[in-house]
Formats: sequence, C-alpha cells, structure tokens
Amino acid sequence: MKIAIIGCGASGMMAAIAAHQSNYKVDITIFEHNEEPGKKLLSTGNGKCNITNRDILTDCYHSDDSDLVMRIIHEFDADSTINFFMNQGVLLSDKQGYIYPLSEQATTVRDCLYNAITEAGIKVILGSDISSVCKSGNSFVIVDRDQKYIFDKLILACGSYAGITKKNRITGDRDGYSLAYHLGHKINPVKSALTALVCSEAFFKDIAGVRANAAIALVANNAVIATELGEVQFTDYGLSGIPSMQLAYLVSKYANRKLEVLIDLLPGVDEETYCNMMQMRIISKRGVSASHFFTGLLNSKLNSLLMKLADIDEDELLNEENEDKFIYALSLARALKVTVKGTKSFEHAQVCIGGVDVSEVDNKLRSKIVPGLFIVGEMLDVDGRCGGYNLQWAWASGYIAGYAAGLEVNND
Ligand SMILES: Cc1cc2nc3c(=O)[nH]c(=O)nc-3n(C[C@H](O)[C@H](O)[C@H](O)COP(=O)(O)OP(=O)(O)OC[C@H]3O[C@@H](n4cnc5c(N)ncnc54)[C@H](O)[C@@H]3O)c2cc1C
Repeated sequence: MKIAIIGCGASGMMAAIAAHQSNYKVDITIFEHNEEPGKKLLSTGNGKCNITNRDILTDCYHSDDSDLVMRIIHEFDADSTINFFMNQGVLLSDKQGYIYPLSEQATTVRDCLYNAITEAGIKVILGSDISSVCKSGNSFVIVDRDQKYIFDKLILACGSYAGITKKNRITGDRDGYSLAYHLGHKINPVKSALTALVCSEAFFKDIAGVRANAAIALVANNAVIATELGEVQFTDYGLSGIPSMQLAYLVSKYANRKLEVLIDLLPGVDEETYCNMMQMRIISKRGVSASHFFTGLLNSKLNSLLMKLADIDEDELLNEENEDKFIYALSLARALKVTVKGTKSFEHAQVCIGGVDVSEVDNKLRSKIVPGLFIVGEMLDVDGRCGGYNLQWAWASGYIAGYAAGLEVNND
C-alpha cells in the first residue's frame, strides 16, 4: 500500500510523519520540486520560525468555512504542535504566546522534520518535475520526468505562490493548483495576503523609513471594514509593517472597490484630551513658526507632511488668519487618509488568499471530488493572520490528513 505526497514543505512533511505514525507499514514517497526540503520554512519568522501561537481564535483565520478550519485546528491545536516538536527533541521558547524554537533558527524546525522523515524510511524525491497526475481506477498515476509511479492515496501539499520569486515559480500546468484543477477541483483566485500595501500618494517618498505606532482602518467604498493597531512602516510605495500586512487579504479580496486606509497617528490619546491639548497649543503658540508649532507632535517627517497637506510653509507664523490651516493639519494626525492601489506581489507575500475551495474537502481534508485524494496546507483557500497561525494550519491540516490516509490504507 502506497501513499504519495506532493510537496515537502511544512504540511507535506507533517502529513508524511503522521501517515507513518498511523500505519508504520505504509510505503510513503514525497515528491519535492526544489533540490532541498522545506525551503520556505527557512525564511519564516525572519529566519526564526514562529511555529504556532497559544492564542488562537476563529478570526485568526479567513476562509469560507470557519467551522471546518476551527475543527481541524482544535483537533491538532497549539499544544499538539508544541508537544509534537518537543517529542522530536526541539526545545521551544514562548514569547507572549508566540512559539519559536529556542535555537531561534528556522533550520532547527526544518531539520527536525526531515530527520524524522528519513528515520521513518520515507522516500523523498528532490528536484522532481511532475508533468501529470491522474486517477486510473482506484490508483493515482504520477509522471515525474520519465518515470511513472502508482499510488493508492495522494496528498497534495504544494503550498502557494507566496514568498517565491517569479523565476522560481513552477510554470505551465505543473503547479499544485493546476494539479488539483486537472483532478477536478475548483480553484478560487489566488492573490497575495500578509504583505505590504501599495498606495497612490506621491508624498510617501518624503516619509519613507518612518515607523509610527498607529491605529489604521481599511475603508472600502467609504465604510470601515477592518481595523488594526501597531507599528506602521511608511515606505516609498505605501504602508508596511504587521498592521498593514494584516489588512492585505481584504485589499486582495475587495480589489474592485474603492479602498483607502485611515491612519490615526496618536492612537494612545483620546479625542477629548487631544482637542484640549491642541486648543492650548493654538492659544499658547500664536506668533511662532509652523516648524516650532509642530515640533514634538510626531516624527519630524510626519510633521512636515501634515504642514505640506495643509498648505503651511515651515516658517509661516501662526496667527488668527491662518489658524484654520493649523487646526486642519492637527486633525490629519488623527485621520490621515491614503488611497490603496493594491498589495505587493506574491514574491513579497507570506501567504495567499484563494486556492482549492474548502467546500470540496471533508473534515479529514479528504477530497469530496476524487476518492483517495487529500489536500492540505496553503493549497486550500485558508489563510491566517501573522503570528504563527499559518504554520499551525499547515501542521494541523497535514497531521490530520496524513493520519487519516495512513489509517485508510490499512483498512482498504
Ligand atoms: C517570508 C515568509 C515568512 C513566513 N513566516 C511565518 C511564520 O513565522 N509563521 C507562520 O505561521 N507562517 C509563516 N509563513 C507562512 C508559512 O510559511 C506557510 O503558510 C507554510 O509554509 C505553508 O505550508 P505548506 O506546506 O502549505 O506550503 P510550503 O511550506 O510552501 O510547502 C509546499 C512545498 O511544495 C513544493 N511544491 C509545490 N508544487 C510542487 C510540485 N508541483 N511538485 C513538487 N513539489 C511541489 C514546494 O516547492 C514546497 O516545498 C511565512 C511565509 C513566508 C513566505
């Protein structure tokens, strides 16, 4: 009895280990397009690999079936991930619920998984180039280069386009989504998520490099649809940093709407206090230059931006006639609106929205379309927030599908 897994990344390696755990007699082969296993894992968490998060709520994931996602996540939860890696000998550190290997090296995670795979006698074909996968009777026929392989079960664990340069992306009809499509699955449009936002305003060039704690709201067709709080990074093309990246999935999803981000650069100050403080400032600083007036409010580049947007010269003196311009500039510190053109490309993204429609898999990630097929990890149309949630999805989905596939081979 044989199981094939396409993709030796996070979910594929976990699926292989789980299939072996559920049935040590099963013959498992992993096909990996890259010359090394788990390459993407190495760049996770800035090279430190944030493997999971102790604080998992339903809204940490975006999908069309949150019940299914949460069932999978509860069946193999953060504690399961922690125990799994501890049992593999990986010491972990807990940074306010964000779990990392104690070594702070993503290679530790990749190597431990790969060691478990080789120790279990699981075959791995690196540098594979699969040209077709089809079902023939009860079997799957995989053509890799000039070799034909036959398997009883197939687990697709091909990941997404996120974090992969255009040059390194699998082209033609050979990527994971195409393989699933040709087997009969529906693929929802794949777009970048967890990435920076590209904005229209030319002034971003003036504030590039500034970081500011801010509350940001995504506005679609004039209605606020999501808010985030944290360190926003201004770049020459728009907004980066975790809060902006968390909004990217919605920017991709609602690309056909008018999208803006409203930035409150003083999130820790309540509106009444701010009004009182600014009224005092206007009264006490009559006669001083604009540059002196704004000193101390925000980062100096942001102060200059507020002046520019309110049409105030840096050496202009505050007086009764131009007071309204100063009040307007101060209001921009609480509600700076920028226009969002889109997100950065796949190469700069950590995950993607889209992929195999979750309505086409059951609660063991079995395909409802093709008997014997399982689909796991980011190939499914499930994406998570930044903070270990995407790897948690990869571990959980990989483990549950792999375990079920191993048991089924036993029972067939
Ligand atoms: C820069 C970056 C940082 C990230 N940091 C974090 C983090 O700290 N925490 C977190 O939770 N998530 C993080 N993520 C997201 C996380 O890495 C992914 O969600 C996760 O790796 C998805 O697992 P997967 O198994 O579905 O796909 P992958 O890990 O991408 O594995 C898929 C594998 O399949 C192979 N493959 C694809 N197609 C084929 C084919 N046709 N034939 C053979 N092989 C194929 C690929 O080469 C790849 O090795 C990060 C992502 C990026 C890009």
